[in-house]
Amino acid sequence: MAHLWIEDNINEWQILPLPAGSLIILPEYPAQSLRIGQGGELEESVAVLQALHADGSQWVLITRQGGCRINGEPIDLNIRVLRDKDEIQAANGPRHFFSTEMLPQIIPFKGAAQKVLCPRCQLEIAPGQPAVRCDCGVTYHQDASEELLCWTYGPCAFCGRPGSLDDGYRWTPEEL
Ligand SMILES: [Zn+2]
Ligand SMILES: [Zn+2]
Repeated sequence: MAHLWIEDNINEWQILPLPAGSLIILPEYPAQSLRIGQGGELEESVAVLQALHADGSQWVLITRQGGCRINGEPIDLNIRVLRDKDEIQAANGPRHFFSTEMLPQIIPFKGAAQKVLCPRCQLEIAPGQPAVRCDCGVTYHQDASEELLCWTYGPCAFCGRPGSLDDGYRWTPEEL
């Protein structure tokens, strides 16, 4: 799930997951903190974030004239599709970073038009079989009943991400 990193008033970073189908309201500062809203609240806010698709893979930011900046730049036409690691900042407000990084999760493999082979064991990943999709897009088995724990066996063969299920986000704003 895409998420926002939010700098709080003691300069620590908090994570707000962005569920598809919700509106994220960046309010006037310092009045309130950021929240998930219902719609029709643009007037009280500096900007809103909204998913473009039901899967929540792409988000758009809508702001009023001069309401906020992305990566330090004003926003043309007050609307902008967000990219991974965009910095969003309202006047006098805290910094936010938009991130599309997903944490590794075991989910039943959806299947694909063609046979998908696991890069670890070279066997097919069957539709419905428990699997982990790495952030780089490659899918591995993680099927305890078949003893195919291919994801946790080692780092991703393509991007080097550790094959763990609880290592947290790789990118954080602290790297900046
Ligand atoms: Zn495998
Ligand atoms: Zn990878």
